[in-house]
Amino acid sequence: KEAERALQLARSEGLGQWLFYHPESHSDERERQLMEDCPWSFSQGQIHVYYQPKVPLASEGLVAAEALVRWEHPVYGWVSPGEFMPLIEKYGYITLLTRHVLYEACRKGKAWLDQGFDFEHISVNLSPLHFQLEGTSDMVQAALRDTGFPPEKLELEITESGTIEQLNGATRLLKVLTEQGIRISLDDFGTGFSSLTHLRSLPIHTVKLDRSFIFEVPGTIKDEKMVALIIQLAHSLGLHVVTEGVETETQASWLTEQNSDYGQGFLYSPAVPAEQFETLWLNNEDPLNSEERR
Ligand code: C2E
Ligand code: MG
Ligand code: MG
Ligand code: MG
Repeated sequence: KEAERALQLARSEGLGQWLFYHPESHSDERERQLMEDCPWSFSQGQIHVYYQPKVPLASEGLVAAEALVRWEHPVYGWVSPGEFMPLIEKYGYITLLTRHVLYEACRKGKAWLDQGFDFEHISVNLSPLHFQLEGTSDMVQAALRDTGFPPEKLELEITESGTIEQLNGATRLLKVLTEQGIRISLDDFGTGFSSLTHLRSLPIHTVKLDRSFIFEVPGTIKDEKMVALIIQLAHSLGLHVVTEGVETETQASWLTEQNSDYGQGFLYSPAVPAEQFETLWLNNEDPLNSEERR
């Protein structure tokens, strides 16, 4: 009865099609539209690269940046990578996206080096799809060559991949990349099913502890123990540790006590446009250096 009345009302308002609206049909339409627009979005300047600082926990400053992609869609506004990255992967646009972010980050990184900003690296996220795509290492090399950005300053953040084929592909690709001096970091560490296998078999330099582990530290004994142990394990293997999602001073000082090397999170800064990142840099810099550059 209730539903019938609603249906009638909706029809009279010309809204029939929305009455049996359910979220999927809406998101299907949005998905279709986003992917129809995707190929043009790059050349139309809708795809931006933002940078989030990585800070050393035991000292002051700002040592590195992670490049994070942003899509400013003309109709939907800012669409989050959490929504569009899976679509980009599903619809076959991943190479287009990675190339865009990579070139942009390397170009900016080179300009920063030329301006005298001294940083350890800029990292770019690499989808696990690349482990099975031909041409990924050529693409990375081309980006470095065309921009003049030194390989030692580039870090690629990879996430655990599901299948054994992907693991084999990853091993092959990462071998080629690390031989050129590129650094590799294992992102969202601890959230996959085979974190330890990846740690064991891939040539990586850094572990990025997933933020789900540090939500409730200090305070939750289980999480505290795990974080402490993962940091120890990584260090004993000669790897650096970055903790993601640091939002409070309490977390930061606890993580410093646990010897996590770097922190990344809203406590320091969210990802920001390049110009704003430069301001962060100047504000963080020790006065002597900035004096020298002027
Ligand atoms: P990720 O690589 O693990 O990046 C960290 C995410 O956590 C970013 O979300 C960042 O904005 C967010 N974050 C940083 N600090 C905090 C914090 O203190 N609290 C909370 N709650 N969140 C924090 P974002 O930019 O939305 O990216 C989400 C994911 O999308 C990334 O996770 C990455 O997997 C993927 N992604 C982003 N850009 C790219 C890209 O250029 N290529 C690829 N393949 N994936 C990308
Ligand atoms: Mg990342
Ligand atoms: Mg991460
Ligand atoms: Mg994460």
